[in-house]
Amino acid sequence: MSTTTNYILPLSSPPPLSPHVALLPSAGMGHLTPILLLAAMLASHNCHVTLITAQPPLSTAKSTHISTFLISHPTINTLNFHIIPYTPPDPTTTDPFFVQYEAMNRSVHLLSPLLSSTSPPLSTIISDIGACAGACHVADDLGLPHYILSTTSARFTSFVSHLPSLIQPHTTSINIAETRDQNQILIPGLAPFETSTIPPPFLIPNHIFTNTVVSSSLALRKAKGILINTFHAFEHETLEAVNGGKLNPDLPPFLPIGPLEPHGLEVADSRPLLWLDQQPPKSVVFVSFGNRTALLKEQITELGKGLEGSGYKFLWVLKSKIVDKEDIGEVEELVGDSFIQRTKDRGVVVKGWVDQEKILTHPSIGCFISHCGWNSVVEAVARGVPMLAWPQIGDQKVNAGVVETVGIGVWDKGWGWLGEKVVKGEEIAEKVTTVMTDSKLRENARKLREEAKGAVKVGGSCDKVLREIISNLQH
Ligand code: UDP
Repeated sequence: MSTTTNYILPLSSPPPLSPHVALLPSAGMGHLTPILLLAAMLASHNCHVTLITAQPPLSTAKSTHISTFLISHPTINTLNFHIIPYTPPDPTTTDPFFVQYEAMNRSVHLLSPLLSSTSPPLSTIISDIGACAGACHVADDLGLPHYILSTTSARFTSFVSHLPSLIQPHTTSINIAETRDQNQILIPGLAPFETSTIPPPFLIPNHIFTNTVVSSSLALRKAKGILINTFHAFEHETLEAVNGGKLNPDLPPFLPIGPLEPHGLEVADSRPLLWLDQQPPKSVVFVSFGNRTALLKEQITELGKGLEGSGYKFLWVLKSKIVDKEDIGEVEELVGDSFIQRTKDRGVVVKGWVDQEKILTHPSIGCFISHCGWNSVVEAVARGVPMLAWPQIGDQKVNAGVVETVGIGVWDKGWGWLGEKVVKGEEIAEKVTTVMTDSKLRENARKLREEAKGAVKVGGSCDKVLREIISNLQH
């Protein structure tokens, strides 16, 4: 008889391995910020994260921002991606962002060998929408699933996904004359798009922007999923139409992971916040047009008149250059000494980088005059701040339409695109007064903020979507 005892070990599967995610941002702070926020979220869910950084960076501000972020996220690795310089042969634009997108997408063959040797092996590549055309080939080469982080609204993303079907093959532009109603562009399952809200480059033959977006659109169709900084209550019509297959049954799912949470790492001018501390609740109009929208001098003057004429307190972030934070020169040169003197008791004008998240969170803010860059929109929504939408370029009019539709902001469509006309101070003052006094707007903004909070809490829609993506990567 054996004296040994046989112990039967309980059968259990080994814990799933943490996925390794490579993140590829394209150009501009508006694209970098959401990728970094996603990187932080993935790292907090124990994913291995490698951030691919394009070299040379488009701006020193961008590299400083990345360095600051990495110091507080030591588990995130970086991989330098040296891009081949590119000059468009027949430039239809001098915009450095579009040129950088193109340069990245043309250098992308250099990435596959770099990524094939990472340890642990990669589980996926997530690129932002500006870099997705190239990233899609890399993912194919390496046999990896490719997810795309869209940096715009679900509504504009769906427009982009449909763009190749609207384009004429020979001129790569939308031929409005051929559409049934020249004022509207119809896309299955979605509310019509007013032609006047579509970025003008889409209507110009052979524009570099359109070519880039069409390439992105084709990559969107091949992706495993499209992550978007939005949430169901905010863009439910678009999300339901796309995910219900009404737009194009072959389109990958739109995965709402918003509102992306701030990382609180901004290296910013703190004086505006000290000034806000002294202002009554909901008394201040905050004005900012993002990183890359510089108003014309005459428009700056009229905006000054509008703020002064409205009678409200204001915090105005001025910008006179389009590349990220790199902005020099004095405030006085742009708005004039006398304006600063006249408004010194109720207004602050700053030039330089502010912590917009903290400003929008401040209880003294009553209205946000915004260009409707999507990050700004979602930041305002998450904080319940009603908006005066003043879109200027690109996707911003479509985004402004989303803001208007959900009833959290006003938008005067007659104000046109950047530089098209000079909007008078009286009109601006009138709209500011509307936003500051309309209790319905404020109530809608408050309700949507509550929905946003619900989306990001543990077990909320954003949290569930992210966990599901991670769990799919573990198999
Ligand atoms: N931002 C900021 N401080 C500034 C200017 C901009 O924190 O002085 C941030 C803002 O909070 C947002 C991003 O930069 O997260 C701007 O992105 P958005 O999509 O709104 O506009 P873009 O700059 O891409 O036009």
